[in-house]
Amino acid sequence: AELRELLLAHIRDVPDYPEPGVMFKDITPLLADAAAFGALVDALAALCTRHGATKVVGLEARGFILAAPAAARAGLGFVPVRKAGKLPGDTHGQAYQLEYGTAEIEVHTDAFAAEDRVLVIDDVLATGGTAEASLELVRRTGATLAGVAVLMELSFLGGRERLLPALGDTPLDAL
Ligand code: 5GP
Repeated sequence: AELRELLLAHIRDVPDYPEPGVMFKDITPLLADAAAFGALVDALAALCTRHGATKVVGLEARGFILAAPAAARAGLGFVPVRKAGKLPGDTHGQAYQLEYGTAEIEVHTDAFAAEDRVLVIDDVLATGGTAEASLELVRRTGATLAGVAVLMELSFLGGRERLLPALGDTPLDAL
């Protein structure tokens, strides 16, 4: 509860961004605060350990900022899931629906060993489209999903329900 208050105190609501009617959760004040950022990275690293992860995925771009230090603190390697066209090696790609149009994300085909357990980290779970596509990517590599962890879940957008079929019993933690 204390962590939750610390984190919430450093998230800024920006109205009408990126378009009218949207209330954007801006995490840059949290990243700039040493105590809040440190506590967040510690908490994410603890989730890596609790769920027995052997690799940590960050979703471009804000997921990178959280997943990379959490992985290092937990003593684990980091794997980027990137927007299409950014990774140099052989990739799996997964398209997903945006409000207008589609997007595609990719992961290197050799990012994981067959025995890896992967924790996927992003900053915000909104509709769940991005996370759902990332889980499909992990599945296609043959690795096992250890869990999904986000700083913040916008529960009114239904992301958790959308992820349920892909998650099964795998934990989804929102700090
Ligand atoms: P979804 O695919 O769940 O609808 O959207 C989640 C993705 O969009 C995440 O990668 C997240 O970074 C970004 N996103 C959507 N809404 C917000 C928001 O209000 N604040 C932040 N920081 N990111 C958001």
